[in-house]
Amino acid sequence: MSEPTSPKLANRILFGLVAGAVLGAATLLLGGAFPELLKAARALSVSVLDPLGQVFLRMLFFVVMPLVFGSLASGVVQLGDLSRLGPLAVRTFVLFFANMSIAVALGMVMMNAVRPGDTIESETKVRLVQEYGGAAAKHVERQAQHPDMNLQTIVDMFMPRNLVGSIAGTDRSMLGEVLPLILFAILLGAAAMSLEPTRRKSVQQGLETLTELMTGIVHFALRLAPYAVPAMIYSVVVKIGWDIFVALGVFVLGCLAVMILHLFVTMSIWLKLLSRHSPLAFWRKIRPVLITAFSTSSSNATLPTALAAAREDLGIRPTTAGFVLPLGTTMNMAGTALYEGCVVLFVAQVFGIDLSFGQQATLLLLAVFGAVAVAGVPGGSLPIIAGLLITFGIPAEGIGIILGVDRLLDMSRTVVNVGADLVTATVVDALEGDEIPS
Ligand code: ASP
Repeated sequence: MSEPTSPKLANRILFGLVAGAVLGAATLLLGGAFPELLKAARALSVSVLDPLGQVFLRMLFFVVMPLVFGSLASGVVQLGDLSRLGPLAVRTFVLFFANMSIAVALGMVMMNAVRPGDTIESETKVRLVQEYGGAAAKHVERQAQHPDMNLQTIVDMFMPRNLVGSIAGTDRSMLGEVLPLILFAILLGAAAMSLEPTRRKSVQQGLETLTELMTGIVHFALRLAPYAVPAMIYSVVVKIGWDIFVALGVFVLGCLAVMILHLFVTMSIWLKLLSRHSPLAFWRKIRPVLITAFSTSSSNATLPTALAAAREDLGIRPTTAGFVLPLGTTMNMAGTALYEGCVVLFVAQVFGIDLSFGQQATLLLLAVFGAVAVAGVPGGSLPIIAGLLITFGIPAEGIGIILGVDRLLDMSRTVVNVGADLVTATVVDALEGDEIPS
């Protein structure tokens, strides 16, 4: 399912964002003179606008579990075939993993240094935690129960006694645990590798169909976005006040700066050290691909352009391009991984929730796994971000705070995803020398 969101829909979402923010700002201005009006607007947000926004969010929550399961398990089954390709596959996966981990680490360093969520006053934070219900309080409770990360807590996190119970979740505000599901998906994929080929193929097809269906539901949700986004943005603005504009502005600028840093500095260093390409010439050659990624917000939709550029402009061998790029489109999402880490930390900061060093290290790993599970379509990472927030006990509704600015950052992270795929293909091609399998 590679259809990108149409530009018309994107414009409507953008229009909704501006309308919600302007109306919210107008209410804040008037609220200065008439405090009753602001109170009424907050009450209206809680009783009418929030439930409307919830329809959109819940649609994303619906798909989190099956999407993570289907895409990770099918990815692992696929690896069974790839392992026969030997060093080419190994190099590719090592580079994918390194690329995404560096990207998340850069994003997390920025979020810890700049702390955009801290611009919100502490009284507002307390009110937010109360309004968004039990999830944040639950987190504090859980932290009190498990003050340290020890071996037992890690085993408990990944392997609960009751898998189905933990995935289903028993609490209204906690959807269930994603970590055991990730482990289960990997185990199932690994077990499927040893099935005889026709049965393995049908398992893989089944998992891929599941993933496509879930992506289809994400598309339905995005159709609601032009109505849900203004409702959520208005609600966030009247509840948090002017601080939210500053916090979001700093968050967006921080994310953009780190994306630019990763794409044009880290990746240029890779090109320089690991291939013979001059970075400047490389970026000039792939400009049309980056523009396609930016305007479609979809790695899948950009794949044909990327393949053509790899063969015709970069001179990458068709075998390498044909192997690395389609795989990279679904797995190697540095921009997405970076963004996931930043959003989780931002929403945690907004709610005044502190994530320990151990939790942030887990977040780094999960953001990489999460990015592998993301479909290369506009807004593909939203359900995974919801899942990550839940995993860390942060109210998943917090995703509503970044939704208004998500479109611009979606366009930008897709550029990073696709750009890094082309760098990886170039490097793998250079490292392969003459050993390319045909
Ligand atoms: N739009 C991104 C892509 O296609 C996925 C995402 O992060 O939402 O690469």
